[in-house]
Amino acid sequence: MNCDKAVSEVYSFLDGELTGVRRSQIEWHLRRCGPCAQSFQFEERLLLLVKRSCSDSDEVPAELFDRLQALIHQEATEGTSGD
Ligand SMILES: [Zn+2]
Repeated sequence: MNCDKAVSEVYSFLDGELTGVRRSQIEWHLRRCGPCAQSFQFEERLLLLVKRSCSDSDEVPAELFDRLQALIHQEATEGTSGD
């Protein structure tokens, strides 16, 4: 499990779509990797926010999700520049 893989599975992880083994692999990575843990926490909060604001339906509109992802990447880029 490396950072790329952990980040690429963030949504499956948060949606509970992963198997137990896969989840533990990611959880283990998050425990050792600060940047990934932060990014997961950020996306988890965002996901909760989106789900709450879209309480009429179970699905988040793809367009909204794309926009949020763009924001996340922006944030991530700004956040890592001073490392
Ligand atoms: Zn990582």
